[in-house]
Amino acid sequence: MSFSTRCIHPPSSPSVGVNTPIELSSTFIHDSSPDSYSYGRTDNPTRSALESAISSLEYSSVPSPSPQSSSTKDTTTATSVFSSGMAAIEASILATLDSHPPSNKISVICSSKCYGGTTRWLEEVWVSRMNREVHYVDLHTPSSVGIIEEMLALSSITSPPSHFIVFTEVLTNPLLSVLSPQPLVSLCSSNPNLTLIVDNTLTSPCICRPLEWGAVSMVVESITKYINGHSDVIMGSVTTLHPHLASALRRIQNTQGAVPSPFDCYQVLRGMKTLDIRMRRQSESAARIASILEKSLGDTIERVNYPTLTSQPPPPSISNYVNLDVGWGGVVSFELKSHLSTHSFCSGLKLFKMAESLGAVESLVEVPFEMMGFPSEEKAREKGVNPNLIRLSVGIEGVDDLLDDLTQALNALKKKNS
Ligand SMILES: *Cc1c(COP(=O)(O)O)cnc(C)c1O
Repeated sequence: MSFSTRCIHPPSSPSVGVNTPIELSSTFIHDSSPDSYSYGRTDNPTRSALESAISSLEYSSVPSPSPQSSSTKDTTTATSVFSSGMAAIEASILATLDSHPPSNKISVICSSKCYGGTTRWLEEVWVSRMNREVHYVDLHTPSSVGIIEEMLALSSITSPPSHFIVFTEVLTNPLLSVLSPQPLVSLCSSNPNLTLIVDNTLTSPCICRPLEWGAVSMVVESITKYINGHSDVIMGSVTTLHPHLASALRRIQNTQGAVPSPFDCYQVLRGMKTLDIRMRRQSESAARIASILEKSLGDTIERVNYPTLTSQPPPPSISNYVNLDVGWGGVVSFELKSHLSTHSFCSGLKLFKMAESLGAVESLVEVPFEMMGFPSEEKAREKGVNPNLIRLSVGIEGVDDLLDDLTQALNALKKKNS
């Protein structure tokens, strides 16, 4: 069944209406069936419906809807949803600890280009409060797999050998660097001491389904972004095909209690129906905007970042891992010439609103150097984020209107500086 059909027909369909009802009860009448609901933190029918819907997006062979099934309770669910993407990231890392005796050494190898919130969690919780180690490696450089091999070799001297959680993203924000999955996948599939977790937020299951690569233990999404797509919900998910991780995630969800409300779950079930169509439109518009901005190089713009540009070709084997037919999503970034003011540019835009976040129907603009919460200016520069970098999240408005808006703001800037 195609991805767009799966977006609209989740596996557990409601029995009466065409949409899943919002079940607001915080507690449920006990009955003797083993899959009955008990308490709203533990489980909720609207949430269960969303969890099986996300599973069917992340992995194409999750069973499709059966008209006979009237229960929304998904006992085989491989997805747990959380009240934010950050709570989902935390749960994915904690779930890995569950499979090992407490005395074993478990460290994180995190892509150095990961989302800032992930790095903050690793620093403030994993390292400072849990006394564990993190190593930042540029996993977007294929040769970096050698660094992981060296760490494994060093740690194999101890008994039991250390375990490493490898945490990465496929497409980075704000510089749009594309992962070369092949070397990482082949290393992780041949090594039981590695657990690979992929944060798929920037690509979404429409472009990329890492669980289908074979070596990925868990995939994390900030549903806040593309999957919901309407800037009105904060939520995250973790999906796995491993029963022991699925059950660890369930326990963490119930214990930590960072669960989304039934209303938010309904909003996401509604938002995700158009994920495929939105993502294609955003990708097409973003690619067009990137190529037109590239034509202004040398005049107002220093460089443009987007994976369809010839200046930045993705790794050759990428078509085995992502759906190039869709494209690369709505995020485009570019550097203004250093004498031009990023603030004048942003405030000169009329359709692009200046706000954080990405992936929704409306177009947004931001200055990552100031707005992405880097701990210091040096850290931002280390990550390749300069003060004159602008990041766009291209929405689904008419692309000509968006181009007109960008052109008038660039022209006004030029005039001001001439
Ligand atoms: C936004 C984001 C998160 C965090 O998600 P929240 O829903 O804001 O908690 C994690 N990873 C990536 C790549 C993101 O863009």
